[in-house]
Amino acid sequence: MASTGAYNGHPKSKERMGKILDALEADLPGARIALDFGTPLELLIATILSAQCTDKRVNMVTPALFARYRGAADYASASEAELEGYIRTCGLYRSKARNIIAACRRIVAEHGGEIPGTMEELSALPGVGRKTANVVLANAFGQPRLAVDTHVGRVARRLGFTTHGDPDKIELDLYKVIPVERRSATHHLLIWHGRKTCHARIPACGACPVADWCKKSGV
Ligand code: SF4
Repeated sequence: MASTGAYNGHPKSKERMGKILDALEADLPGARIALDFGTPLELLIATILSAQCTDKRVNMVTPALFARYRGAADYASASEAELEGYIRTCGLYRSKARNIIAACRRIVAEHGGEIPGTMEELSALPGVGRKTANVVLANAFGQPRLAVDTHVGRVARRLGFTTHGDPDKIELDLYKVIPVERRSATHHLLIWHGRKTCHARIPACGACPVADWCKKSGV
C-alpha cells in the first residue's frame, strides 16, 4: 500500500491513533483475547501459563487443568508435582507451578479465595506482573486497561507512538493517545495486527491497512 505520509506533522496525535484503530477494527472484526477462560481465576492461571508459550498451547492444557482444580483453594493445596504434570508442555512449568500455588495461597489467605480486582493487589501476587494484572483487570473485570506484550510494544514503536522498550513506559505513552473507552480493545487490535501483518522479523507493510498512518512507512 503506498503511503500518503499521513504520519508527518502529527506523530503522536490522538487523531492519528483514532484513524489507525478505526482501520484495525475494520481489518480485525471481533478481535478478542485468545485465551479460553470462564472465571477471573481461570484467566489468571491461563495468563501465567502463557508466558513464553503460545495461547494455542495454553488452551490445549487448560480444559483438563480447570476440571481438576476448580477454585483457588484447590490450587493452594495442590501438590507441586501433580500440578506440573498438567502444565508440563507450557514450558517453565516448574516455576509456573510454584507461582500458581503461591499466588492461590495468598488469594485464599488474604482475599477469601476471590481474585482481587485492583492492580495493587493483583501485582502483589507471586508470579503476577503488571502485564498479567492488566490482562485480568481488562478481560475479567472490564476495566479500561491496556496490557503491553511483545506484539503491542513492537507495533507501538513502529507506528511511532513510543520509543521505549519498557512495557510500563509504552503503556503510559499509549494512554496519552487512546481514549479510555478504547484501551482494552486497543490491546487486542495491536496484538492481532502484530500476529497477522506487523510480524516481528519482516512486517507485511505492503498489505498493511494502517500503512498510511505508520511512522515506519510514512517518514
Ligand atoms: S506492517 Fe508495516 S506499515 Fe503496518 S504497522 Fe507494521 S511497520 Fe507499519
